[in-house]
Amino acid sequence: MALLEQASTLGPLREKIEAGERLDLEDGLAILESDDLLSLGELADLARRVRGGTDEVYFVQNLYLNQTNVCRVKCKFCAFAATRKQEHAYTITPEELVRDAVEQCAATGFTEIHMVNGENPHIGFDFYVDTIRSLAQALPDVHLKCYTASEIHHMTTLSGLTHEEVLRELKDAGLGSLPGGGAEIFADRVRALIAPGKEHPEIWFHVHDTAHRMGIPTHCTMLYGHVETYEERVDHILRLREQQDRTGGFLAFIPLAFHPENTVFERRGWRHTTGADDLKMLAFSRLMLDNVPNIKAYWIMMGMPMAQVALHFGANDVQGTVMRETIFHAAGARTGTEQQIGELVRFVREAGRIPVQRDTLYNELRRW
Ligand code: SF4
Repeated sequence: MALLEQASTLGPLREKIEAGERLDLEDGLAILESDDLLSLGELADLARRVRGGTDEVYFVQNLYLNQTNVCRVKCKFCAFAATRKQEHAYTITPEELVRDAVEQCAATGFTEIHMVNGENPHIGFDFYVDTIRSLAQALPDVHLKCYTASEIHHMTTLSGLTHEEVLRELKDAGLGSLPGGGAEIFADRVRALIAPGKEHPEIWFHVHDTAHRMGIPTHCTMLYGHVETYEERVDHILRLREQQDRTGGFLAFIPLAFHPENTVFERRGWRHTTGADDLKMLAFSRLMLDNVPNIKAYWIMMGMPMAQVALHFGANDVQGTVMRETIFHAAGARTGTEQQIGELVRFVREAGRIPVQRDTLYNELRRW
């Protein structure tokens, strides 16, 4: 029975993938509704290879920064944001941030800064430009992947500038690319439920479209595992695919599993996504997004054992070493980083793949 079911739902998908044909909305639903997890993984891996994928698995050495957690938006799924009056609210000056980043870089040697923030209404656009310029001057070899589309849009309301003008100033100051946050789920129904204060998806797309046309690459995401339906997941991924057809500037897609801790959803009894759903989402992403070259299994979120399995479900990137100097401080130098890289390398190798350290733009820096 299970075999018959598999043949009837996934069989046509296999034919399409082998023929290099694009999957459609019904195919997307068939993938998400299938419980044949191993066949989905095998199909996703096939799709990855048919489209030119190799055995290489990428990771990057990066530093995560959040300059302010003060945010006006109040998304219901967010456990990070604060109002200015709350005790845990903070805003780090450009000087402090740069000092910290330079110290971290000396200790760990990262090649990328990934920075996202709250939409703080109490600081001006100049604050962001100063931050990027100071970081670029202090760390000229480090790629600055900073500010979600939502933050870029927030900067237009702070400054009165257009998306293009904001991006131009930031690019001239040293911005290299944009992370993919703020996408959540594009369907209006879901946005109204989980992030009613967030900008309309058309704005998210306009920022990415503008960035791509200006030569600024970006990333894209989906926050799944809350109130969205399978149809809304498929709709989300098809909208991203259409954007990539238009401008081709997405470097990677990162499916982000919803974490209910410390949100209103936790009080309502929401639970974490399961491993099966996470793997299915990776396979679904790889199968549907035929024009985005890299799909990330974010090991910090999934755990390395699950990320290892994900490498057989269409993922070809495990994101990277995310660390702070304080963690590995005592040993000095790069010991901590090397230990973490060693673990990543071991996991990737034992999954039967070739570990490759990359820069943000997927240029190879080192391989094992
Ligand atoms: S905009 Fe970002 S920081 Fe602000 S509440 Fe929403 S998810 Fe949190």
